[in-house]
Amino acid sequence: MAKRLNTLVLAAEATVPATHAALPDAVQASIEQRCMNPVCTKVCNWPRTGRPRLFCCRECRQAYDYERAELLADTRTIAEALDRPGGTYKQRRTLQTELARRRWCLIRYGDPRGELRDPKMPL
Ligand SMILES: [Zn+2]
Repeated sequence: MAKRLNTLVLAAEATVPATHAALPDAVQASIEQRCMNPVCTKVCNWPRTGRPRLFCCRECRQAYDYERAELLADTRTIAEALDRPGGTYKQRRTLQTELARRRWCLIRYGDPRGELRDPKMPL
């Protein structure tokens, strides 16, 4: 059974020759991954040349960008509302649950621009 590269060569001791020599014996990184759109089940393959694709098609990239932006905007709206006083306990609890659901969804969309690290957006 192949070992992981990081167990064959410890990071603190890694050199280019040692790491290169260990590659054939290490678990290989996958050459196919699911499309980044969380609702898509298609696969993207590592290309022979050029930049690897994150999405199976342009429509998936657009759907990903749109849904992620809408989830972020919804999350900001709810977070701002909860920062202000007012509302009943039940209303506040409902909004807290809705905020948590949107953040749970957002985890699947990653954080390429660091927006989720904004202090107003704690996960
Ligand atoms: Zn897709």
